[in-house]
Amino acid sequence: MNPRQEDHGCGHNERLISLNDALAIIRSELQPRSDSQKLPLRAALGRLLAKPVHATLDVPNHDNSAMDGYAVRFQDLQAEQPLRVIGEAFAGHVFAGTVGAGECVRIMTGGVMPAGADTVIMQERAQRQGDEVRFEGKHPLGNHVRRRGEDIRAGDVVLPAGRRLGPADLGLLASIGISAVEVHRPLRVAIMSTGDELRSPGEELQAGQIYDSNRYTLHGMLTKYGAEVLDLGVIPDQRERLREALERAAAEADVVITSGGVSVGEADYVTELLAERGNVGFWRLDIRPGRPLAFGHFGSAVFFGLPGNPVSVMVTFYQVVQPALEHLQGQTESKRLQLRAQLEAPISKRDPRREFQRGVMTMLDDGSLRVRSTGNQSSGVLRSMSAANCFIVLPEGVAELQPEDWVTIEPLMSFG
Ligand code: AMP
Ligand code: MG
Repeated sequence: MNPRQEDHGCGHNERLISLNDALAIIRSELQPRSDSQKLPLRAALGRLLAKPVHATLDVPNHDNSAMDGYAVRFQDLQAEQPLRVIGEAFAGHVFAGTVGAGECVRIMTGGVMPAGADTVIMQERAQRQGDEVRFEGKHPLGNHVRRRGEDIRAGDVVLPAGRRLGPADLGLLASIGISAVEVHRPLRVAIMSTGDELRSPGEELQAGQIYDSNRYTLHGMLTKYGAEVLDLGVIPDQRERLREALERAAAEADVVITSGGVSVGEADYVTELLAERGNVGFWRLDIRPGRPLAFGHFGSAVFFGLPGNPVSVMVTFYQVVQPALEHLQGQTESKRLQLRAQLEAPISKRDPRREFQRGVMTMLDDGSLRVRSTGNQSSGVLRSMSAANCFIVLPEGVAELQPEDWVTIEPLMSFG
């Protein structure tokens, strides 16, 4: 662990680590895994390809027509004489003969180009009378012919290793006749909430108690990400209970995520346990919300100790944990999207940390994007996340932002 020493000009030195540095350290410490399984195409939706996929055939695998019309010999068009229709080439029904001088074949979209023909004339430009057809206008050589291999050539890498398979990818794989693919095994992620004050929904609250929401947001984010979630429940602030839960989590899961108990002043056994059985660094991240964060290994599992505040959990998950999981699984490209939008109302930013405010973006009639804050941005107010459709990313430093000022936003849907 290598937190940077930084002075943010707010009157005191703090050991803060920037988000980018934290991600770089995480990537350098986590080796992408290699275990994979073969799945039928439909079951592979949302999974990560373990190996590149090469095409074993050309797509399309024969020259074919892009239009309904007539397949002709280009040279015959120069005579401007009617051509004789000698047969039909419909999709799935190949014309077996050869088009000779003065001849043509009625062809439909997707129909295989008959031998001898090199150009298609769309039917709107043709006048047919019985077996004879006349064409209007000029028609370039090869017009409306889709060439063999135009889309994909045999041997091409159609999808790289590390690609998360979407609906188009399933179709692409099907189009080259592939019915099963090698994908990475999903990560098994154990989650637990720590805190004596926490109860689960369905239980009665006593004085001073609150409902645990972090296991629910984590369950949702992890499931959407494509992980298998092992929920270990609420763990009270007791050394032995926490030790047992962490041991079990590390034995059964690839990754362990806890929430709560990493802020300064928490009972020391969290730190102690992590020091005993693991190699975990405590970071003070230069982001808001979500300053305290622990990262490292506990036993054989990768460990993330997230802050307790519900919004901090979601922000640190999306900004730190999910990129780490992607790296761990060998995902090579992220679908994470950043856009620029103009503020609807002023925002004053008094904390120098990079801030992930929760926002609502809308598109105006002229296509430009506007964004407004969801209101109370306290890290305990989960409604600010639930009402949001994007993060408003306010860079390091302090600022008074005015209406119409441009800001970077990250649509939440691009997180999965
Ligand atoms: P901690 O990091 O444990 O000091 O927790 C910070 C704040 O987050 C406290 O107000 C906790 O009550 C709250 N908190 C911790 N864990 C949860 C949870 N699982 N669900 C809701 N709030 C929580
Ligand atoms: Mg706590």
